[in-house]
Amino acid sequence: MRVLLVEDNPELVALLIRGLAQSSLAADSVGTVGDALHVLATMKYAAIVLDLGLPDEDGLTLLRDMRRRGDATPVLVLTARDGVMDRVTGLREGADDYLAKPFAMEELVARLQALLRRPGNLLGRLLTFGNVSLDTEGRQVFVAGAPRAFPARETAVLEILLRRSGNVAPKRLFEDHLFGLSGDVGSNAVEVYVHRLRKMLTDAGATVKIHTVRGVGYLMAEEKAAE
Ligand code: CA
Repeated sequence: MRVLLVEDNPELVALLIRGLAQSSLAADSVGTVGDALHVLATMKYAAIVLDLGLPDEDGLTLLRDMRRRGDATPVLVLTARDGVMDRVTGLREGADDYLAKPFAMEELVARLQALLRRPGNLLGRLLTFGNVSLDTEGRQVFVAGAPRAFPARETAVLEILLRRSGNVAPKRLFEDHLFGLSGDVGSNAVEVYVHRLRKMLTDAGATVKIHTVRGVGYLMAEEKAAE
């Protein structure tokens, strides 16, 4: 599997290439958005590690362009700007995960491997797991094919779970999303919205269930149909 590094710091690139090689991941690297677009026009990568601070343009420009073209390659954003808003913006623009600099190489490799393990059909416009789907552009939830009116925050929580289905979604991802939707979020807000979403899914006859992974986050798993 081949990964594209879009990063303009040569020392960091060398470090990344070495770190990824130890996990049997080959990597190509480019240092600008322009070069990345050029390479992506002919090459398909298993995942992209994207720095946001690039010399020609903001890394988010590349991400936006990819998603607009329907390119669902998993993208892990590297950012030195450790503000919540940057992370929220990145996730809204279609990033699959993010890591703040400086980071531990093991963490980057672990996150990247989580993205690579994820089934490809969970990316893109329609996210589906069990009998639950979310149209990420129209923000419409479907359960067993029927449209359901879920409020914006419950839908945002569902989206994170769908994008991570099969993997645990860390609690901070939900916090970032909820902070992005409203400036005033209580400390137990995530629990509240997950609780509401659980009830909505159950009431709608969903075949998926949200499990709490204590101290870590939440995991969505498929349920066997009840008798
Ligand atoms: Ca940079």
